[in-house]
Amino acid sequence: MNRFMEAALAMAPQLGAVRRDIHRHPETGMTETRTARIVADYLKDLGLAVREGVGGTGVVGLLEGRRQGRTVAIRADMDALPMADRKTTAYRSGVDGKAHACGHDGHTAMLLGAAAVLSRHAGELDGSVKFIFQPSEERLPGGAKPMIRDGALEDPRVEGIFSCHVHPDVPQGSVMVAPGYCTVSSAGFTLEMIGKGGHVAQPHQTVDPIVMAAACITAAQYIISRRTDPLDPAVLAFGVVQGGTANNIIPERVALKGTIRALSPARRDRLIAMFRQTVEGTARMHGGDFRLEIDMEYPSVFNEPAMVDLLARAAGDLLGRSRVIRTEKPFMGGEDVSYFHQEVPGVFWFIGTGNPDKGFTHPLHSPWFDFDEAVLPIGAALHAQCALDFLSATEMPALSRPVDRPQE
Ligand SMILES: [Zn+2]
Ligand SMILES: [Zn+2]
Repeated sequence: MNRFMEAALAMAPQLGAVRRDIHRHPETGMTETRTARIVADYLKDLGLAVREGVGGTGVVGLLEGRRQGRTVAIRADMDALPMADRKTTAYRSGVDGKAHACGHDGHTAMLLGAAAVLSRHAGELDGSVKFIFQPSEERLPGGAKPMIRDGALEDPRVEGIFSCHVHPDVPQGSVMVAPGYCTVSSAGFTLEMIGKGGHVAQPHQTVDPIVMAAACITAAQYIISRRTDPLDPAVLAFGVVQGGTANNIIPERVALKGTIRALSPARRDRLIAMFRQTVEGTARMHGGDFRLEIDMEYPSVFNEPAMVDLLARAAGDLLGRSRVIRTEKPFMGGEDVSYFHQEVPGVFWFIGTGNPDKGFTHPLHSPWFDFDEAVLPIGAALHAQCALDFLSATEMPALSRPVDRPQE
């Protein structure tokens, strides 16, 4: 058995206990002080140099190898979600309205495990390993950007970054990775269709924003079905429609909210332009007005192909090739690890947690989401192996594309 895997498996009970402790005490974006304390204390106990309060509540640990060479980073997010935990397990959330329903407690435990495993082999490392514990992945504008601004990738300069996310649609213990764009670029919109209120019996004296909103919702469907390449993944959806107070009053305004998602920031920006055109045309056609606000969310995560190959090789050696799934299919969620990948070559991969036999089938962000802690040592060992392989690789992966930054 691989020595990192052996070491990580021996730590399994400890990693499970750390995960459960964090799980019982979930902290949402930028309030992760207790979690950050646990992380910082753990890293200090391992003898690592630790920087706290990086970009808010972020923590960075540095493990120096036998010689000064490259520096590789492994990143985990630490935040919980503002939602109820409906599980009945003993380790369920002890905080009302907060839950680790996205598995970030597991990501944190896995990365601590990797730090523990690698710290015992520092003498074999041809460089340094940075352990980046990031706050606030779930809450915009995210914790990645402030950590970068606060120098998380500098001193020493990071040359490659690895991170993973649990995934209940992938069989437990398997690894899934997609080269190129692997998450979407998203934007939220808040739209107001502005008409002129009045009596329903005298529609000619009004401009009906309900009809305008209905026409706009219908017209927006054609942006995806008629104006977007069917082979380009894109989403345009409304999540909120609010307007009116009584059945005999035509209101002044209807409020709508929704989201636009595409595989690259550039495609997302084209969808936004088409949406604005549609909204404006519809409002004018009805003699009304509109107000549209766009909130740019995270840009897509770009997985550097050379980093994907490195991860896939390490995972194949560690777990067996049959447990490594390469996919072209992107994950339609957003992830702010994308900001790290804009700075240095990176790979963001998924570790499978789906286990129908044990009932671990609930999707991420479900109030019942949970996973088997048997995946923690697997993630820890693979993180460790990737770091070692990156530092001893003869060729350095480089950023292979123009940086595709979102509008800000
Ligand atoms: Zn999430
Ligand atoms: Zn997540």
